Parts: sequence; structure tokens; C-alpha cells
Amino acid sequence: MIGCRRPVYRTLAIAPATVVELCAEHYSEEQAALERKETG
Ligand SMILES: [Zn+2]
Repeated sequence: MIGCRRPVYRTLAIAPATVVELCAEHYSEEQAALERKETG
């Protein structure tokens, strides 16, 4: 996550062949956003 200086919590595949390293806070945000896209 650009601009985020928190330690990396997990990696998340946001798209095919695209994995990002996220802190705990951004990880939960991104995961929720992806779930909304998949269901919505
Ligand atoms: Zn973050």
C-alpha cells in the first residue's frame, strides 16, 4: 500500500498475478473491498 508505513501483515492477491503486501488494517479493508466486488 503506497504511503503506508505499518509493518506488513499479509499478502493479498488483488488481481491475477498481482500480489500486494498489506498491514493488518489495509488487509482487512482490501479484503472487504474484494468481497464486495465478487458478490456485487
Ligand atoms: Zn496499511
